[in-house]
Amino acid sequence: MPDPHERSIASALKSVQRLKKLTDRMRGMNSAIHRAYRTVLRALKGNTDNPAIVTDALITLEDSIRAAAAVFYDDALAVGMAQAQRDLVIYGLGEPDNVDPNNANLAIASTIGLLHSQNEQALSIARLDLGEEYIIGDASRKGIIQPAPILSEMSFWLTSLSVLSYEQGTKRKMSEPETESVRQAVAQIDEHTTQTCLNVHGQIVGWNENFHLTGTPRYADDMFDPPFHRGCRTAIANLLIELVDDDVTAGMRDDAIEQGKKPKPSTMVGRAHYKVVGKSVQQFRAGRWHRYKTYPTNLAARSAAARLNK
Ligand SMILES: [Zn+2]
Repeated sequence: MPDPHERSIASALKSVQRLKKLTDRMRGMNSAIHRAYRTVLRALKGNTDNPAIVTDALITLEDSIRAAAAVFYDDALAVGMAQAQRDLVIYGLGEPDNVDPNNANLAIASTIGLLHSQNEQALSIARLDLGEEYIIGDASRKGIIQPAPILSEMSFWLTSLSVLSYEQGTKRKMSEPETESVRQAVAQIDEHTTQTCLNVHGQIVGWNENFHLTGTPRYADDMFDPPFHRGCRTAIANLLIELVDDDVTAGMRDDAIEQGKKPKPSTMVGRAHYKVVGKSVQQFRAGRWHRYKTYPTNLAARSAAARLNK
């Protein structure tokens, strides 16, 4: 049986993989989030001059997002709790503590807050009858009512809630005086790992200490827990203090340094174009992106042009 440190790292990476699956499911075109947006966009089409219809459609959207977020956030809490369970077994410390039931509620409140700002913007535009394209977009551009900002917010919470429930589940048992422990950052190391997470991989801090981050992207210099940036795939492993300074930690640092020397994958070129033309990497690769190159990127300019062409 591998040593407890290796098992803890494997356990943390299992959480990263489960979170990745969860995030992919949430971002998939058949997820409840995308379905909710397709429904609201259908309801809004041709009706954005009618504030009552817009209000109704946005209430439906809010109900759907709230319900979907509750399910996804529960799944994220379960990912962290399963990791807590695995790790306490490794150290023979029994069952994890329950997580604070309010964690998911606060995450839902944050998500709905963001949705409200999107919805308020759309409703004001509807009331002023400024034009449907601002709200629902068109064939080539998204309008205000689109899933991307909500999905990004929800991705943040999936990672955050998972780490939080892991720490709440293990903290009391692993930080008792007789079981002195520390926290180690464990990044998923591959060609997509950010410089920040290559740098932090293997870093060890106390229960009251922050990880020190260098490289980009990062939200801040000193952070208590992942996510350290958007789309972060770093987890935390709690370790008994006697396990810390071993070959496993040294190996983690070596892996990160090795990966840092490899060239970045060529898909980064596609991503750069994605930002410029607002089209997917797939379309870019298929050589179809140039068709959109000359399209006005400014929504107001397009809206004015559309009116003139009527
Ligand atoms: Zn990261």
